[in-house]
Amino acid sequence: MILRRFFDAAMAALLLPPLAPPARPFAHARFSAPLYPGAIPISPRWSARRACLLSNIANADLNTFPEEQSEIIFVGTGTSEGIPRVSCLTDTSKTCEVCLKATQPGNKNRRRNTSILIRYANSFGRFNILVDAGKFFYHSALCWFPAYGVRTIDAVIITHSHADAIGGLDDLRDWTNNVQPYIPIYVNKRDFEVMKKTHYYLVDTSAVVPGAAVSELQFNIIKEEPFIVHNLKVTPLPVWHGQGYRSLGFRFGDICYISDVSDIPEETYPLLEDCDLLIMDALRPDRSSSTHFGLPRALMEVRKIQPRRTLFTGMMHLMDHDKVNEDLSKLNDTEGLDIQLSYDGLRVPVKL
Ligand SMILES: [Zn+2]
Ligand SMILES: [Zn+2]
Repeated sequence: MILRRFFDAAMAALLLPPLAPPARPFAHARFSAPLYPGAIPISPRWSARRACLLSNIANADLNTFPEEQSEIIFVGTGTSEGIPRVSCLTDTSKTCEVCLKATQPGNKNRRRNTSILIRYANSFGRFNILVDAGKFFYHSALCWFPAYGVRTIDAVIITHSHADAIGGLDDLRDWTNNVQPYIPIYVNKRDFEVMKKTHYYLVDTSAVVPGAAVSELQFNIIKEEPFIVHNLKVTPLPVWHGQGYRSLGFRFGDICYISDVSDIPEETYPLLEDCDLLIMDALRPDRSSSTHFGLPRALMEVRKIQPRRTLFTGMMHLMDHDKVNEDLSKLNDTEGLDIQLSYDGLRVPVKL
């Protein structure tokens, strides 16, 4: 039964039922073709973009921001195995409601590996700065990049070297083969040492068979101190991600992003002061794990850090988007806390 419902959902996404005209025209300069069939014949190239939009239409925010507006796009907001979990969909003994909901096109419980894209606008143009490229990067990019008109990847900043943060480095070959000559990667020494093993052929391209086209990556080793990416100051926020394992959050302007954290060292708190938007790890509703904050601990940290607004990320399948958000919105009434779960495809205009 569950498999049948999953199959139906998948087929519904593939069959592309007629789409009603959007309430707002999709006005991005790169997308002059209409989203709906009829007025102008749709090119195959546009059809692919439309398919991506259709399969995520409930999530896609078709607002158009001016070129001079910086924004954050949530490329992925889930755990390493993704949501829905395959194991939940094949379990005939019980139904996982969240994973079942996540099979529906556009459902906000559908989550891929945690990552954000910062579209940083300055006087030189708008730069696409990606934080992490995990195992599902290709699938995320397939959904959101065509939909939101993202063409180049102007830098990638790495939080840590787990597979859900760096597993997509190989997929960057599509960009360096077809869009741009290379991509600068910002990574600390410890994680670069891991990459030398996991992605040895991207670090030492002499290992590549002549003629084979792999990602052209330019590695920049960062320390736990501020660095500049396309004129944007980026401040590392060192945190613990399990006992004895360090991960980096990053501060961009007054936005703080901490995707993988089990504890915040005292020396990092001053870097979190006067935070406008906090994006933080909240794995599960009941408790923390040894490597991630659960919701109770994440809320404790929000009360301590006192950001103006918070969006949680990195949620597992026990976090039902609508249910948890309903509970979180009550905190606005009782404590004045503006906290919600993020979701894949969410766009937030920001000032950087
Ligand atoms: Zn599940
Ligand atoms: Zn991790």
